[in-house]
Amino acid sequence: MNVLIAAPEAVPYAKTGGLADVAGTLSVELIKARVQARLIMPLYRRVMDSFDVGEPAASVDVRIGGRVHRGNIYKYKSAYFIGCDEFFDRPELYGTPAGDYPDNARRFIFFSKAVLLAAKAMDFRPDIIHVHDWQAALVPLYLKAAARADSFFAGAKSVLTIHNLGYQGLFPPDVLPLAGLGWELFNPEAVEFYGKVNFLKAGIFGADIITTVSPTYAKEILTPEQGFGLEGFLKKRESLVKGVLNGIDCSTWNPAKDPYISCNFSAGKPDGKAECKKGLAARCGFTKNPGAPLISFIGRLSAQKGVDLIARAVPDIVAQGANILFLGKGDEAYQKALGELEGRHKGSVAVEIGFDEEFSHLIYAGSDIFLMPSRYEPCGLGQMIAMRYGTPVVARKTGGIADTVGDYMPLEGKGTGFLFEDASADGLKLAIKNALCAYRSGGWMDMVKSAMRMDFSWKRSVSRYIEIYKNLAGGSG
Ligand code: ADP
Repeated sequence: MNVLIAAPEAVPYAKTGGLADVAGTLSVELIKARVQARLIMPLYRRVMDSFDVGEPAASVDVRIGGRVHRGNIYKYKSAYFIGCDEFFDRPELYGTPAGDYPDNARRFIFFSKAVLLAAKAMDFRPDIIHVHDWQAALVPLYLKAAARADSFFAGAKSVLTIHNLGYQGLFPPDVLPLAGLGWELFNPEAVEFYGKVNFLKAGIFGADIITTVSPTYAKEILTPEQGFGLEGFLKKRESLVKGVLNGIDCSTWNPAKDPYISCNFSAGKPDGKAECKKGLAARCGFTKNPGAPLISFIGRLSAQKGVDLIARAVPDIVAQGANILFLGKGDEAYQKALGELEGRHKGSVAVEIGFDEEFSHLIYAGSDIFLMPSRYEPCGLGQMIAMRYGTPVVARKTGGIADTVGDYMPLEGKGTGFLFEDASADGLKLAIKNALCAYRSGGWMDMVKSAMRMDFSWKRSVSRYIEIYKNLAGGSG
């Protein structure tokens, strides 16, 4: 079975969020499971700078409106990269903190069209094309057309994975002809969304199966609270919507072997974690009380992640004698607000603005408590990584968090985190209070060890995807 994974980002090449972990790891794990899998993604500047992708193996001409753009196809390991300097030779993937790149529609129409042309140019005949998020969501419709016109694609099926329904790729109607789609599709039963063209909706409309990244989120996206206006459209296709929980790359995220951390540790030998905490507290300048409980947050600085809730809880956290550290990048307003909190609570609050994978390892390893007060969380990788590094989480009970974190039960002393339901600063403060109380009473180490013993490996998710692919490919006769 040939599976082409089309994604706008993937580890180890380019990453802004969890989608990259999923796309990159899935393609590698599929190959381990003897599936012929290829990853295909844009050749961004940061990929060119860090990987020697060599000379183009082929090139394709992509028509967008009246213009033809040349795409160069590079092969590197089991990945294909589509290069086009005009679109992808930029410092960021999708935009700057000031906003999205204004030509994102063109950029990802180009990418989506080039996916099929590249598959053909590289003679990789897909049984399944598995596309991720709105940036690749036009591919299923293109595939349907190609399967009718070209025997190379006959019988090929598509899977769309929605990593975050909050990002849909909405553009004005004049994008439709650029995308090569007919006006008959510009209606609410197809790709129109309140007068705009909705790329993700096009994917939901065109894909043979729709998956999302946790069983709970698969139910939540069918509700008005979490459906972002697409709940009705999804509900009509409910039988096609499946939830497959993400895994984490347990070789990259392994406290027993992690090369970045100062002292390795495991559930059987947890002592090194204290050493990691010492180093982290020193690096963060937690001079007032270096040994105090160390609470951390890593993630995009956005409303989705509940950064504003944490910001409002900070004075309370400091008053309770804990230190708090943020690593993140995102909305300018949050970057500024966190900077101010750092200034106000010198020695107890540390803020690092940026995306720093290496530092994130030190934080997961050296923290006592990891915060994830997300308003919604399709799956969430942070909480799984934190637990693997023996860091219980304080998190909102939503999406994949509800599927992965065991809420602490004081009487039985069981659990791997502290969950709260109300998306408010008070809800978060209460959960933090409970966590700090448990931290300061006996039994915390048991929680640390049970968190480390949880299995978040990819094995289970990959076999679920293979089952989905096989059912689809079998269905085509
Ligand atoms: P998202 O909604 O952003 O995909 P996830 O929890 O699913 O959230 O995945 C986020 C991933 O990105 C985690 O692996 C997390 O460690 C990483 N990450 C997020 N922000 C940063 C950052 N500023 N620096 C380093 N890693 C980060």
